[in-house]
Parts: sequence; structure tokens; C-alpha cells
Amino acid sequence: MPTLYDCLIIGGGPAGLSAAIYASRGKLNTVVFERSKIGGQAAITDDIENYPGSVEEATGPKIVKRMREQAESFGTCFVMEEVKKVELSEKIKKVITTKGCYEGKTVIIATGAEHMKLNVPGEEEFIGKGVSYCATCDADFFTDLDVVVVGGGDSAVQEALYLTKFAKNVTIIHRRDKLRANKCLQDKAFKNPKIKFLWDSIVERIEGDGIVEKIIVRNVKTGELKEVKTDGVFIFIGMKPSTEIFKGLIEMDERGYILTDENMRTNIEGVFAAGDCRAKLLRQIVTAAADGAIAAVAAERYIEELEC
Ligand code: NAP
Repeated sequence: MPTLYDCLIIGGGPAGLSAAIYASRGKLNTVVFERSKIGGQAAITDDIENYPGSVEEATGPKIVKRMREQAESFGTCFVMEEVKKVELSEKIKKVITTKGCYEGKTVIIATGAEHMKLNVPGEEEFIGKGVSYCATCDADFFTDLDVVVVGGGDSAVQEALYLTKFAKNVTIIHRRDKLRANKCLQDKAFKNPKIKFLWDSIVERIEGDGIVEKIIVRNVKTGELKEVKTDGVFIFIGMKPSTEIFKGLIEMDERGYILTDENMRTNIEGVFAAGDCRAKLLRQIVTAAADGAIAAVAAERYIEELEC
């Protein structure tokens, strides 16, 4: 007989881990599926200044490591397999991975969001050869070199600040003449002598011989093309939800974010969504963790009602 789990959690970022802590502590037989690395985006974020209670040395990897240990201490089982398909319409839900099929009474979707690409010539070709989407992972390779950061949101500015610890110069290239990032990050960036700005500009293409050597940028106001010599291109232009496998099965908004009520319930009974994959105002570790906790408690209530 295959195991019938109480709670199948898809995704091991802060939302999934928080759901796992609450579900396992509530005595639900819980499994978390993760395709690559436990921790999601938080696992590759260096400075976490705004997660309540975490002040000194609060790095993403440390926070998610503790979350995972906490979940394991309550009995969560971690399965490092990619989920390829789900069957959610019946009372018993099925999660099909690269290696097998798992059955559960409830499913919590916590698949998060992934980095958007510029989709310009050279981007794909130079990934790992100068093009990066993770400063924490790659900054070290650019010690005393010149890098550009593309984007003007919180991620771009935060990662640009982080890169100044390694790189010689960091140029933020933004398509407008005002940053979208919060005021606190903006102030830090404007004060940092290593950070320069290239306003009203977009990257047309990335060029080099084996590794990145330069980019061609276009001024969106004048149309002028300009060559910028650089050793690295860090791209932080936003996120898109990782919800492909749920398309057509679960209600989503026009951008693919899953719609839930305030108790994280989707339009399908017994299926919940938490964290960055969900349509909501603020995507942060604290909101992901809160979503996960609510989803787990809602799943517990759903099972209780199912069984009485
Ligand atoms: P974001 O806030 O959506 O910002 C994306 C940035 O990229 C914007 O400046 C946007 O320009 C630019 N952009 C988008 N498409 C582009 C393109 N094709 N070419 C050039 N530029 C492009 O995304 P994010 O910075 O990744 O942040 C995602 C969420 O995480 C946000 O809610 C953010 O507040 C949160 N976050 C918070 C923190 C923190 O609090 N410390 C850190 C990281 C992330 P426009 O401004 O012109 O639209």
C-alpha cells in the first residue's frame, strides 16, 4: 500500500518550510518536494535586514537552514525530486515527480517565483560566463572587476550594494530615470562611491569572446547606442511565478500568480497556495512564512472536517 500523506508541500522555500513546520508540529504526516536547493530565493540572498527578529548576521542561507532543521525536528520528510504533474480534482491528491507518485489528503503549493530574463542576444550564451542572476553566488568571481546591474527595483539595488564588496565599479542600468527600490536602499546606493548609474537605458545585447567583455545599451529617450565595457552582467528585472504545471488546473491571475482566499485556499478543495507563487501585495520572507503557517493550519482544519 502506498503511503497516504496528510500534507504534500511542493516547494522548499520559506513558505514551504514554514508550512512544513506548522503541519508537522500539528501531527500531519508531511512531505516537502524540492527540485534543486532547499530555501528557494532566500537561500541565495545575502543580507536579510527586514525579517523580524533577525538583526545581526541574518543571511538567507542561515535562516532557511534553521527553518529546515526545525521542520525536520517535527518529522517533516524532504524529497529532492522535481514535481512534473499533479492530479488535484479528486479527494486523494496525486503529486507525480521524476521518480514516483505520491498521494495526499491536501496539497500546499509553495513553488515561488523565478528570475525574469532580458531575452537579448548573448544573455543565454554567457550565463555562467559573466551573466548572472545571483550576486551572492557569483560576486566573488568579480573581485576588482567592473560589473553592471540591470534593473531598478529592490533586488537590483540590494544586489548592487552587495557587489560593491567585491567589484571595482558597479553600474546600475535602469530603463527609467527613477529607481523603483525602497528609499532606504536608494539612499545607500546614492551614497556608495562605487555605484554609478546609467539612466533611461536598456541592454540591447551582450558580447564577448568566450566570456562577457561588453554590452551595447540604448538610451530609450534619444535612441543613442553606447558600448559599455564590463566583466559581468547581473540581471535583476523581477520575477515570474513558477506555476506552469498548475495552469488550467487552478485559478490564476493574468500573470500566472495563484489566486487564494485569506486562508490560502485555492479554488480546489484541499489545495492551498503560499508564498511568492500567490497573487498578493508583498513578496518577502516574512509574508511567505506567514502564508505557509496559515496554509498548514487551513489544511489541518480541512482534514479534520473531512474525517468527522
Ligand atoms: P521588481 O520590484 O518588479 O523590479 C524590477 C525592476 O526591473 C524594475 O525597476 C523594472 O523597471 C525593471 N525591469 C523590468 N523588466 C525590465 C526589462 N525587460 N528591462 C529592463 N528593466 C526591466 O522586482 P525585484 O526587484 O526583483 O523585487 C521583487 C519583489 O521582491 C518586490 O516586491 C520587492 O519589493 C521584493 N524585494 C524586497 C527586498 C527588500 O525589501 N530588501 C529585496 C529584494 C526584493 P521599472 O521600474 O521601470 O518597472
